[in-house]
Amino acid sequence: MKIAVIGAGAAGLAALRHCISGTYGHQVVCYEKTDQIGGTWVYREQTGFDRYGLPIHTSMYKSLRANLPKEVMGYPDFLIPEGPVSYLTRTQILDFLNIYCDHFKLRPYIRLLHHVELVEPVTGDRKWSVKVRDLQNDAIVIESFDAVMVCNGHYFKPKIPNIPGQNVFTGKQIHSHDYRVPDFFNGKKVVVMGAGPSGMDLSLEISKNANRVILSHHLTETIDTVFPENVVQKGDVVELTEREAVFADGTKEQVDVVFYCTGYKYSFPFLAESCGVRVDSNMVTHLWKHLVSIENSTLALIGLPFYVCAFSMFDLQVRFVLRYWHGEKQFPARADMLRSEAEEAARRAERGLQKKHFHMMGPEQEHYYSDLANVAGITPLLPVLTKLHNESSMRFLKDLVHFREDRYKIIDDYNFVELSR
Ligand code: FAD
Repeated sequence: MKIAVIGAGAAGLAALRHCISGTYGHQVVCYEKTDQIGGTWVYREQTGFDRYGLPIHTSMYKSLRANLPKEVMGYPDFLIPEGPVSYLTRTQILDFLNIYCDHFKLRPYIRLLHHVELVEPVTGDRKWSVKVRDLQNDAIVIESFDAVMVCNGHYFKPKIPNIPGQNVFTGKQIHSHDYRVPDFFNGKKVVVMGAGPSGMDLSLEISKNANRVILSHHLTETIDTVFPENVVQKGDVVELTEREAVFADGTKEQVDVVFYCTGYKYSFPFLAESCGVRVDSNMVTHLWKHLVSIENSTLALIGLPFYVCAFSMFDLQVRFVLRYWHGEKQFPARADMLRSEAEEAARRAERGLQKKHFHMMGPEQEHYYSDLANVAGITPLLPVLTKLHNESSMRFLKDLVHFREDRYKIIDDYNFVELSR
């Protein structure tokens, strides 16, 4: 088969590695629109648009240290080597991705500075037409493929809620996608909106520079973690006035900056409508197992689930897809795949989850991983990964200030130990 991989982040690299492996040995081209591999782990000072007029992809900030221990951040057959700390810096993760890329000799297959503009199904010898702009030469290239793996990430298109008064507020408004260094917040009063991993981490980070940080979220209970004294928690911001944020409980605070840590939208701007992929309130359909397009099963979207052991899951998803594309497994009937997706949506809705939570795994990840492995008959991920992921996520919530001092060691397929700090 001739396969296109879109994006050379952690997911695209896993896709390439398996597509070219001895088992399959497909013909592969990986298109990457930036000048480097690594995706969101590549730190760039620049925000807004790059020199080619494309939106900056990365959301990485300068001081970032991973919020998961390295023991769960490697690939199943290429672990992050042991070392004195568990929580690595962004540079160490990027270095690891480069080592992975070199170890599996992936670079010859990657076309840097190639921006995929359009992917559409066609009739003919091959099923897909991929239109790419070679940015350096400002030339359009159109190539045909039998299958496409979309690995374009999902932390690049900011989601900003509509709040009455946004247009009259005279302070600054910034999304975490454009955050790089804390100096911007020196002496400021800031309302941070959203208490996901970014909102929590960034409240802590900017609290060293800001005068006061109000972490605003719609959780019904106060987050039980130890924040510095200048960080307080409040409910939702329901309105902005010229200088103030008005909260759900009717209180008001004068603020200089509204900092949106409100997440991202899934976006596949290059997929033609005929690809059959839709995004509705951040739920991507119609996909079998959050992964394979039901309309066109030679199109796979790698990496959609979140709150996961990302790199390992990418690897598992790619191995899953290749079993089918290679003919070792047959896809179920279209109606069965649609039914399976609808049943999962119904189960999640019953539990009170919204559409935007459709791809959220967290406690469900173990079930997802073992389902993929069982259904395709491929090597499963080790149970210890989910166990350690869950444990470290709990520590993150409990002790935001110190959790990165924890150190872990995996001792067998099921168990890890905590090493002394
Ligand atoms: P990306 O890394 O986003 O890579 C996508 C690639 O596709 C990019 O290189 C992009 O340039 C390219 N691309 C996009 N569109 C096109 C196009 N049209 N044509 C050609 N190329 C294109 N995960 C963890 O496991 N631990 C953490 O601690 C952690 N911290 C994070 C902190 C931040 C601030 C963010 C934003 C994410 C964090 N993540 C973390 C999640 C992280 O996104 C994943 O770990 C993983 O790196 C995602 O890989 P990806 O390949 O799916 O996407």
